[in-house]
Parts: sequence; structure tokens; C-alpha cells
Amino acid sequence: MHPDLDKVLITEQEVQKRIRELGEQISCDYAGKEILVVGILKGAAVFLADLVRYISIPVYFDFMAVSSYGAGSASSGVVRILKDLDRPIEGRHVIIVEDIVDTGLTLNYLVQSLQSRNPASLKVCTLLDKPERRVAKVKVDYNGFDIPDQFVVGYGLDYNERYRNFPYIGVLKRSVYT
Ligand code: 5GP
Ligand code: MG
Ligand code: MG
Repeated sequence: MHPDLDKVLITEQEVQKRIRELGEQISCDYAGKEILVVGILKGAAVFLADLVRYISIPVYFDFMAVSSYGAGSASSGVVRILKDLDRPIEGRHVIIVEDIVDTGLTLNYLVQSLQSRNPASLKVCTLLDKPERRVAKVKVDYNGFDIPDQFVVGYGLDYNERYRNFPYIGVLKRSVYT
């Protein structure tokens, strides 16, 4: 385990097993259709890359990058699009792929933005969910793991752009960010 971590919350084996289940569930739910997965950069990149390899129906990719206005790490709900989708999504079956849903403010904004573009359907898939922290009401259709209110890194999630490459999810030591 990396010395900046308090503990490993979800092991590499647990992550992979759960993502396989999510991929199989999605393949089943959308059988006979094709889907467009929209990865939210950068955090969801690792999750998306593994998830799509467990999906057996046709999958197209697109990506968005957003940034939350406001000071520090607190999510404000005012979201700025840094990179929008490459193509229209009208009439397509879209799944937003996120790393983690915390207050839900970012996701709430994304769902509204994409819904207004008239997709055939729109669902949300997140690797991690911190239900205790929810402020905005958002429906999560596929969720890898519920986790407690702790700051986690790894498997795409960063602190100051670090630790994204860990193959597991760990709790960052408080001393690293205070
Ligand atoms: P929300 O708008 O749901 O509050 O914010 C979601 C975003 O906050 C995530 O996409 C992620 O970038 C960041 N975030 C929330 N909780 C954590 C956490 O425990 N670890 C890391 N690394 N980022 C988090
Ligand atoms: Mg994210
Ligand atoms: Mg981050």
C-alpha cells in the first residue's frame, strides 16, 4: 500500500469483480441496442476503460470535461463545461460514466444538460457513491460501491492530480491534505 494512504478501501480484485457485474448488467439491460458512454474527465477515464471491456453490445465513446466553480474542493453546483461532447446525442442511448457522486451537484448539472439534447434514453453509471453527502437529488442507475464520507483516491480519482493510477481505491491520510 502507498504510504500516503490510511487504508485500502476497495481492493483491485473487488473493483474488477464489481465492474464485470456492471458491464454484464448493462449488456443485458440494453440487449439489441447500441449505447454511447459519456466519460467525465479525468476521474472516470480508468473506470470507463475497464467497464467497456465487460460490455458485449456495441459501445461508442465520448467525453466531457467539467469544472466546478467555487473555492477549494467544495462543489458549488455551478459547473463550467471545459470540453463538450464531440457529437450530438439526439436519439441515442446515453450512459454518463462518473468516478464518484458526492453532493450530486455536478451530476445534476450534467444530466440536465444532456437531457436537453433529446437522447433516446439517459442513465447514470458511477463507480462510487457517497450517499451521506447528497445535496442534489439525482438518480444513479448503476453504482459500483457505496462508500462512507471519506476522501478517497486511486482508480482514476486524484488529489492534486496524484494517485490516479492506483489499481485500488484507498483512503488518503489527512496529513496529506491538511
Ligand atoms: P459532486 O458535485 O458530486 O459533489 O462532486 C463530484 C466530484 O467531486 C467528483 O467527480 C470528484 O472529482 C470530486 N470528489 C468527490 N468526492 C471525492 C473523493 O472522495 N475523492 C476524490 N478524489 N474526489 C472526490
Ligand atoms: Mg467525476
Ligand atoms: Mg479531482
